[in-house]
Parts: sequence; structure tokens; C-alpha cells
Amino acid sequence: MYPYYPPIGTEKTCKEMPVFFPDQHQDRQPGLEYLMQPLPISDNPSYVGSGKLKDKVAIITGGDSGIGRAVAIAFAKEGADLAISYLNEHRDARETAEMVAGYGRRCLLLPGDLRDEQWCREVVSRTVAQYGKLNVLVINHGVLFRQPSIMDISRQQLEDTFHVNIFPSFFLTQEALPHLRPGSSIISTTSVTAYKGVPEMVDYSASKGAIVSFTRSLSLQLARTGIRVNAVAPGPIWTPLQVLFTNEYIRTFGVDTPMGRPGQPFELAPTYVYLASDDSGYVTGQVLHVNGGTITES
Ligand code: NAD
Ligand code: MG
Repeated sequence: MYPYYPPIGTEKTCKEMPVFFPDQHQDRQPGLEYLMQPLPISDNPSYVGSGKLKDKVAIITGGDSGIGRAVAIAFAKEGADLAISYLNEHRDARETAEMVAGYGRRCLLLPGDLRDEQWCREVVSRTVAQYGKLNVLVINHGVLFRQPSIMDISRQQLEDTFHVNIFPSFFLTQEALPHLRPGSSIISTTSVTAYKGVPEMVDYSASKGAIVSFTRSLSLQLARTGIRVNAVAPGPIWTPLQVLFTNEYIRTFGVDTPMGRPGQPFELAPTYVYLASDDSGYVTGQVLHVNGGTITES
């Protein structure tokens, strides 16, 4: 049984959830959500949309699974049409698109490698070609290679981490800006690791720190244009990113947070809705921390 207060709206689902996650491992990154046990909880049935993003168009990178899927569902509930970019997890992406369609919104699937600058630009141009406009850019995709010693971080790993985690922020933004009108919003996914540091995630947390600084500087550059730039820093969330690691890691995943449990993707989604909508009209350059209570310095 779930040992802590279950996330609101999921009491029934959480009754089925084991105290610790069962042993499981996937070899390839990105992981596949449909193979995870238990499945991450992406949709909170208690969350009812109220038109906060009515007829807006949003791109969500990494929108096929994990946090991105939960954001896609919440955005759809709030009335947005979506384009989701992902590497190659076609089944996960199709399932996300079905859930979005279930809430009456459209979902354009854009599989491809965001390490390729040209593809970053196409993600934006194809979205605009499909829907005729763009209002929200959620830069959420990412990779994580755990490496206990910096001595073992190869040049290849370093390039992969930075070419996936931060370079596309520039190319996507450059391509998106000419389409973004006042009131538009750019939201990135950084991480609690950028703030507290994690010994075996030196390159990953450095790339997430780059996202924090990208967010702050770009927000200042755009502050008077009416385009707001913010980020979300999740703590440990049960997503396909986690099943790439050891069973020992999975068994105790998230128990070191003050709340004593990992988060579920749906618990992140309302923060993205807030940052995407006019509710946060006086908020830019900020990072919102959704992490089970870990206190960060800024
Ligand atoms: P996830 O595996 O569901 O999402 C990551 C997505 O990135 C994948 O779906 C994949 O399609 C996409 N991706 C990876 N490489 C790509 C490439 N080369 N080209 C295009 N797309 C690529 O896992 P998630 O945990 O939901 O991750 C979403 C974001 O949240 C990531 O930026 C991650 O760093 C961040 N984050 C996650 C956690 C957590 O505990 N899960 C904590 C803090 C931050
Ligand atoms: Mg995925």
C-alpha cells in the first residue's frame, strides 16, 4: 500500500501502488512509458479545465511521456491544440495523442532528433503550418546519463547531454520568436539537481543549470515584449527517465524528499498551465519548484 498521503484525486490508483517500485530496467534511452510498472499517473481526474488556454497552440518537446505527457493532457483540458515532439517512442506518443483527442483537442506528432538544428526549426515550422500560430513553447525533453566519477564522462556523453538538454532551447526559441505575440510563454523544464547538486549527475545537473541561466537572461531580453520566459524544476518524478538505472536506485526512489515519496507526472502539470496562461501575467524569469518539499536557495 502507498505509505504516504496519496496525491489528491488518485486515492484509488495509489491504493494499487507498491511501497517501493518493483525491480525493472530498460537499456535504451529514452525509456518507454508503456513498459513501466506501475504506469506513471499522468491524468488527475479531479483536475477539470476552465478554458485557461482556450484555442491556444502549444509545442511540448518530450510530450510523449512522463512530465510532458501530463502537461499535454492538462493543456488539452484547458482547451489548447498541441504538437508534441519526441525521439522515437511512437507507441507512447500515440497513446498521449489519444488522451489529448479524448479531451477534444488536436495533437500533432513530431518524432525526430532535437540534436539536429534543422529538426528543431522544423518542429516549430510544422506546428505553425498545421495550426497557423504558436502561443506556448514548452522545452521539456532531456536525457540523463548517471556517471559516478567525472573521470568516466566521455566527450561523447558530454556532447549528448548538452546537445540534447540545452542546444535545442536556442534553436527552438529562435524559430519560435517571430511567431510569438505578446501574451505568449516559453517554459523550460530544469531540475532540482541544478540547485542541490547530485554527485553522479555532474554533466546533467550542469546542463540543467544552463537552462536556469537561459531562462533568466532570455526573460530579461524579452521582458518588454510581452513574451514571458519561466521554468519548472521538478524533484524526483516517476517517469521513463528513472527505469534506466539500477534496481537499488529505483527501490528507494524519492524517499529522501521531505514528503518521503516521489512525485507523479500529473502533479507537475498545473504549474505548466499556470506559467502558460494569463494567470502568471506578471511572472517572468522565474523557476517554480515542484519537488516534494526540498528547499532550494533561489
Ligand atoms: P521522459 O523520458 O518521459 O521525457 C524525456 C523525453 O525527452 C523523452 O520522452 C524523449 O522523447 C525526449 N528526448 C530525449 N532525447 C531526445 C532527442 N535527442 N530528441 C528529441 N527528443 C528527445 O522523462 P521525464 O522525466 O518526463 O523528462 C522530462 C523532463 O523532466 C526532462 O528534461 C528531465 O530532465 C526533466 N526532469 C525529470 C525529473 C524526474 O525525476 N523524472 C526530475 C527533474 C527534471
Ligand atoms: Mg518518452
